[in-house]
Amino acid sequence: MTMTKKTVTKKTVTTNRIADARRLIVKIGSSLLVDEASGHIRRAWMDSLCDDVARCRARGQEIILVSSGAVAVGRRHLGLTPPLRLEEKQAAAATGQIRLAHAYQEALARHGITVAQVLLTLADSEDRRRFLNARNTLDTLLRLGAVPVINENDTVATTEIRFGDNDRLAARVAQMSGADALVLFSDIDGLYTADPRKNADARLLPEVREITPEIEAMAGDPGSAFGSGGMVTKLAAAKISLSAGCRMAICKGEPLHPLTALENGATVTWFLPSAGPMTARKQWIAGSMSAMGSLHLDDGAVRALASGKSLLPAGIRAIDGEFDRGDCVQMVNGDGRVIGRGLSAYSAADARLIMGRKSTDIESVLGFRGRDEIIHRDDLVMEG
Ligand code: GLU
Repeated sequence: MTMTKKTVTKKTVTTNRIADARRLIVKIGSSLLVDEASGHIRRAWMDSLCDDVARCRARGQEIILVSSGAVAVGRRHLGLTPPLRLEEKQAAAATGQIRLAHAYQEALARHGITVAQVLLTLADSEDRRRFLNARNTLDTLLRLGAVPVINENDTVATTEIRFGDNDRLAARVAQMSGADALVLFSDIDGLYTADPRKNADARLLPEVREITPEIEAMAGDPGSAFGSGGMVTKLAAAKISLSAGCRMAICKGEPLHPLTALENGATVTWFLPSAGPMTARKQWIAGSMSAMGSLHLDDGAVRALASGKSLLPAGIRAIDGEFDRGDCVQMVNGDGRVIGRGLSAYSAADARLIMGRKSTDIESVLGFRGRDEIIHRDDLVMEG
C-alpha cells in the first residue's frame, strides 16, 4: 500500500501531539457518553475510551478525564423530562454523578486502573488556596497512578457561581494541572470558517495559533443554533488553554477508541500555544502578579537558586510583608537587590516560623508536613 506524503505528515504530527503529551486532559461531552432517548451510558464507547486511556498510561502518560453526563444520566431516575429548571438539573446531577463515576470505575478496573472522582466548582479555580489544594490533590492522584474523573460539582453550583459547561472546566483543569494537551471530544469535528450546514464553502481550520476577532466570529453568535452547539464555549476554553501553554484539540469523539482515531489522523482543529506550560507559568509569575512580601536570602540560597534549585527555608534570613500560601513574593540577596520572584508555598506567618531551619524540621515546628521548599523551582523566576 502506498500513502501520499501529505497523509503521512498529517498522521505523524497528530500522533505526536497526543503521544508527546506528558499530562493529557480528555473532555467527554454528554452527547457521546449518554444515549439521549434512554438516558443510558454507552458502555461500549466508554470501554473503548478507557482502553485508549490504559494504552496512554502504559506508555507513561498521565491522564485526567473531564466527563459530562451526570444530568443526562440522572434525570430519568427522578422522572424528570427536559427542559429542566436549575434545581432539577442539580437534583439530576446528584443521582447521575454516582452512576457515571461507577461506570468509569468499572471500565477502568478492566485495566487495573484506579479511578478518583473530583468535583470542582468555579470558585475552586478562582480562589488561590482552593486552586492550590485542587492542584496538589490532582498531582498526588496522578503520582499514585490513579485516573481522576472530574465534573463540575453541579449540586452546589448555582447560576452565578458555575462554569456551566465542561469545556471551560476542562481548560481550567488543564491550567491547574500544568497539562500540555487537552482534547475536547464532542459532536463537532473542528472549527470551520463558517457554519458548514449553511455554507458550502465552509472550511475546517486544521491549526489555529491565536484567537483573533476573525476566529471568534467563526464560532457564530451564542444564540444561533451553530453557536449553542458549543463552539463559543470551546473558543473560550481555547483561550484559557493557550494562555496556560497547553495545546487543545476539538474533534469528533464518536468513533470507538476516539484517542486512537485522533492519533491515526482523524479530522481535528488544533489550537497551538506559542510556549509550553512551564514557560507560560513563568511568564505569568514574572508579569502579572504583584509581590506581597520579600524573602531575604543568605549567600548559599542565592547560589542554589542561580544553579536552578528550589528555595528551602534554611536559606532565609528575614521576611517582610504579609502574604498567604500561593501569593507572589520577591527574593532579595545580601546586598538588598531583588534577584527573582516566585509563589510561596507557605503563609508569611508559617514561613517566619520555619525560616533558617531544615526542611525536616517543618513538621515539628508547624504541626503539619508541607512542602520541603518555600518556593519550588517550577514556581520561581530569576531576574534577567
Ligand atoms: N456538568 C454537566 C453534567 O455532568 C455537564 C456540563 C456540560 O456538558 O458542559 O451533566
